[in-house]
Amino acid sequence: MRDPKVEQVLDRLREGGGRLTRARRQIVEAMVAGDHRHLTAGDIVEIVRRRDPDFHESTVYRTLERLAELGVVRPVQLTPGATVFHLVEGPHLHHHLLCDRCGTVIEASDDLLDALAVEVGRTYGFALQSAAATLHGVCSACHEHHEHDHSHDHGAGHRH
Ligand SMILES: [Zn+2]
Ligand SMILES: [Zn+2]
Repeated sequence: MRDPKVEQVLDRLREGGGRLTRARRQIVEAMVAGDHRHLTAGDIVEIVRRRDPDFHESTVYRTLERLAELGVVRPVQLTPGATVFHLVEGPHLHHHLLCDRCGTVIEASDDLLDALAVEVGRTYGFALQSAAATLHGVCSACHEHHEHDHSHDHGAGHRH
């Protein structure tokens, strides 16, 4: 059973000069199988161990580190102390919209902050490093919940 998505990632790993080891394959498979793509190292340990109980936790951490060096996986610190990993799926990075209530992560397009970066550069002479920003807020599901209790603040300060 060869998942084309797994093979695609592994092809990139080889192109980047990385050797294909069993551990690397297993971790990539786990990440593709993960229903959402932002997994903590602990999540990955759990998924990998479900298939192979002998898989060492330290191997997972070490392998993730190597995969990150090879550009196959990208670690993102969404909140202090909580690094998640996602597969790099193309030349484009994405920003993360993080819901502070339920922890949902929404991937936003990589040009989201381009206009802001220009503005910040013009106004402050500051080069914004916005390749992988995490923006905090409240997702639509949590927001709807909230609105049932506080219908008066509907649309306050909301601009599109
Ligand atoms: Zn991501
Ligand atoms: Zn939420």
